[in-house]
Amino acid sequence: MEQTNRKTPARVRVLREEILGWRTYQVPDSTGMVKLDAMENPFGLPEELRLELGRLLAATAINRYPDAGAAKLKDHLRASLGLPVSAGLLLGNGSDELIQILCQAVSQPGAVVMSVDPSFVMYRVCAAVSRVDYVGVPLREDFSLDVGAVLERIEQCRPALIFLAYPNNPTGNLFAIDEILAILEAAPGLVVIDEAYHAFANRSFIGHLSEYPNVIVMRTLSKLGLAGLRLGYLIGDPAWIDELDKLRLPYNINVLSQVAAGFVLEHSDVLGEQAAEILAQRAIVRDELGLLDGVLVYPSDANFLTFRVSDGPSVFDGLRERAVLIKNLHGAHPLLANCLRVTIGCSGENQTFLKALVDTLSRLGGTLG
Ligand SMILES: *Cc1c(COP(=O)(O)O)cnc(C)c1O
Repeated sequence: MEQTNRKTPARVRVLREEILGWRTYQVPDSTGMVKLDAMENPFGLPEELRLELGRLLAATAINRYPDAGAAKLKDHLRASLGLPVSAGLLLGNGSDELIQILCQAVSQPGAVVMSVDPSFVMYRVCAAVSRVDYVGVPLREDFSLDVGAVLERIEQCRPALIFLAYPNNPTGNLFAIDEILAILEAAPGLVVIDEAYHAFANRSFIGHLSEYPNVIVMRTLSKLGLAGLRLGYLIGDPAWIDELDKLRLPYNINVLSQVAAGFVLEHSDVLGEQAAEILAQRAIVRDELGLLDGVLVYPSDANFLTFRVSDGPSVFDGLRERAVLIKNLHGAHPLLANCLRVTIGCSGENQTFLKALVDTLSRLGGTLG
């Protein structure tokens, strides 16, 4: 109707109704702050590698489309992972894009995507964008898997797709292997084990892939030190990977990322040393946090620590006033009440964080409980 058209803005008429109610993904401004909010590796590449990379990138033809199949980069990945040629490999513009592709792939009436709550928010976000129902099974209070509840929900909902982050974000812990195996046995569809923090946990389900053809392992180079390149990947049965590949946009990995990631993978010893330093720092920060009155720190197998205080939002604000940016988890899920998450940085950043935390806590004068 013409009249309705004149009154109702076009975007309200043509956009999917639910989009109008969504919020844009928020990334806080970190200018001038010690940035410990996004699980980035604090270390850059050594000077000589950066210069060499600069020369390589300068010689890269940015006027041409990238290799659509990223064959060279895949060879580098296979070599660095020791993957057989028979394993399927799919690259994404960050694993976020792969989560989106997976949700799109199962998007049909009645389909369910399942994970645990709290876990990585993009599972829920991508399910919503793809109009698939999302079922999040609550973790136990200590953030362990409530395997009985998960199995029950699997039986009820018959999920097309299950995401399990191993270790989990934002809680940092690894779920028990036998409990995950029970889920793999019971799942009627695809299960994706998200190993974004593999470099810090050193445990993997890649070895189980041949036993479980309906399991895919997802990884990313982001937490390892290449967050800016945006590169994630899926490893699994080519029968699955080849179907998912049909949903990938042809040139999703840009040519600079292909070249840069290939180069860094040739020098992966550097990233390995950096990960080892981050692990050493994690132990230091965990011990120091553990000594603070009013701070309960949870076990972590990732490059971050999740901890609980008596007033999470106030502590978060106090740190921000002291130019330290971490992540406020309070409000994200009932189990995360008054929880905060700090990424492990380099020694200086961690000490700055700890000092700012001690200051903040003494200013607030709060103790737990
Ligand atoms: C950070 C993170 C990702 C996303 O990584 P990108 O490759 O940077 O998109 C995926 N899964 C989990 C659990 C994460 O914490």
